[in-house]
Amino acid sequence: MIAKTSRRIFDVLAHPHHHRWDFWRSRCNICGRPTMFVCTVPQDRWIRACLACRSTPKYRAIYHVLTRHFGQDPAQRLAQGAHIYELTTTSPICRRLQAHPNYCCSAYMSDRPFGTEIRPRVWNQDLQKLSFGDGSFDIVISSETMEHVRKPWDGFAEIARVLKPGGVHCFTIPYRGEGPTVSRVDTSGPEDVYVLPKVYHQDPYRAVDSLVYTDYGADLPDLLRPLGFETVEHQVLEPAYDIQDDRGPMRVFLSVKR
Ligand SMILES: [Zn+2]
Repeated sequence: MIAKTSRRIFDVLAHPHHHRWDFWRSRCNICGRPTMFVCTVPQDRWIRACLACRSTPKYRAIYHVLTRHFGQDPAQRLAQGAHIYELTTTSPICRRLQAHPNYCCSAYMSDRPFGTEIRPRVWNQDLQKLSFGDGSFDIVISSETMEHVRKPWDGFAEIARVLKPGGVHCFTIPYRGEGPTVSRVDTSGPEDVYVLPKVYHQDPYRAVDSLVYTDYGADLPDLLRPLGFETVEHQVLEPAYDIQDDRGPMRVFLSVKR
């Protein structure tokens, strides 16, 4: 622990340009506190976490897009009676909202029965077959998840089903912004058939890394329209909340259910 802390202090001192120190002007839009944004992985100097709530730019961007869309942040929406479902149990948004009775979240544990509540408002869910009723939620949140869903259009259709009309799915995906959407795996049969070389993303919360099934392209809004979604890509560059990445703005999608 001491070794880890001293290594961290050494790294912070060695790479001051990887951090954002202006405590008096930096405020985190998720936890709402004045804070500093600190890089913990030197290779990813733009992934700077809030010292108070450990939020990363991606989650701050999702929170920002939802706040702009509703004119209120998700915590305020919950207080007004909205229902929120998030497709992870470990995000900073989850940590901020999970105490509220109208917030629920889910993990994906294939060795345990799906559709079961592990602890209050924390579920084990297969996104391709959610156990929630139609029109249960006003907001669904996912980050870097939809590329790992074996049958992604079943997953998006399920999100549309559990949203109320006018509800939104706010999400990030690895996104090139050009070319068509490509399935890396043929999932038409019971077994996966690899069309393209296997790509895995590191999953810090699971023993195995997650296979990428889909590379999303610029046709994503057109592909989501038949499922009942109007989808807009938001490019978020918000220095006040340190929302940026090394290639420019964060890309966040907002799908509104018709
Ligand atoms: Zn924070």
